[in-house]
Amino acid sequence: MSEQFTAYQISKSEKGTELELLQLREQDLMPGDVTVRVEYSGLNYKDGLALTSKAPVVRRFPLIPGIDFAGCVTKSDHPDFAAGDRVLLTGYGVGETHHGGYSELARVNGDWLVPLPNGISTRQAMMIGTAGFTSMLCVMALEKHGILPDSGTVLVTGAAGGVGSVAIMLLAQLGYRVAAVTGRRSEQEFLEGIGAAEVLDRKQFSEKARPLAREQWAGAIDVAGGNTLANVLSQIKYGGAVAACGLAESMELPASVAPFILRGVTLCGIDSVMTPTARRKEAWRRLSTGLDLEMLEKGVNEIGFAELPSAAEAILAGKIRGRTVVKIGSDIEGNI
Ligand code: NDP
Repeated sequence: MSEQFTAYQISKSEKGTELELLQLREQDLMPGDVTVRVEYSGLNYKDGLALTSKAPVVRRFPLIPGIDFAGCVTKSDHPDFAAGDRVLLTGYGVGETHHGGYSELARVNGDWLVPLPNGISTRQAMMIGTAGFTSMLCVMALEKHGILPDSGTVLVTGAAGGVGSVAIMLLAQLGYRVAAVTGRRSEQEFLEGIGAAEVLDRKQFSEKARPLAREQWAGAIDVAGGNTLANVLSQIKYGGAVAACGLAESMELPASVAPFILRGVTLCGIDSVMTPTARRKEAWRRLSTGLDLEMLEKGVNEIGFAELPSAAEAILAGKIRGRTVVKIGSDIEGNI
């Protein structure tokens, strides 16, 4: 008989979308060659959009949400994985078009999995999660464009959020001087504690940007888009680079080409979902060796299944500090 397990599921009817905590059976999972007992998932901005149906992240119904997870393989027909292996997964449409991580059991294509790097637990992998992985991809993009610790200060927007806070830690631990942009002045102490040398108010970046402004930053990691990204671009020093990965402010980019054609600034697009395997493994290797996990823990909030819907609202309202890990299967009783 196939195993029963608990999962969140989003379904769609004429009345709209509905999020429910359900008992499912293994045959309800989608095809895949590796089955994983999920131990931890994360809560990312995109998960907030999916769980609240505020944006069309979920594109197939019914669907188990959760864009990342870490756990232990229970069955495998994939040559690279065997029962007992510890693995993690981010992206590849999991939680969007394929059943995701807010579930005790997941069945996926083994090509999407990354073996858990040595020395980190499944919980630590999700403390890093999609957000931390994306931060590392941003750092790698800046390095590729020659932005190194001696190039000058690197600006990080959305500083108190998941991507922003891990980016600050990574950059500071690599020896960069980091300026953090936040809308929450109350997080100043936290941001300095994780490595920010200066903390700026995001209001300074929220008005319509001029084509060029005073050259201040060697590089930047931007999670906001919109006027924030346009203002950041206008302030980048000659030859600098910006890694753009998010739209927390807006999908629009009301910017001028002036920084590109007069200052040789590079705008690097960052996508974590379809990152090729080799770069994925390299990013996780660096995250597992170069990130101070004790420091990361300072910005981590752990929740159980029952708290997911309210945490989803909170992340969209910009009220969550750092990373949120979801302990899968906890808080289940009485909630189904
Ligand atoms: P979080 O919600 O944890 O962080 C986002 C932060 O952005 C907030 O904490 C806030 O920081 C800041 N922010 C919120 N609203 C605004 C606004 N109107 N203007 C300027 N800043 C704002 O989300 P994540 O860190 O998980 O994700 C950040 C962004 O990156 C999202 O847009 C997400 O979709 C995107 N992303 C993209 C990926 C990719 O593959 N390209 C992968 C992962 C994430 P503060 O309070 O400090 O101001």
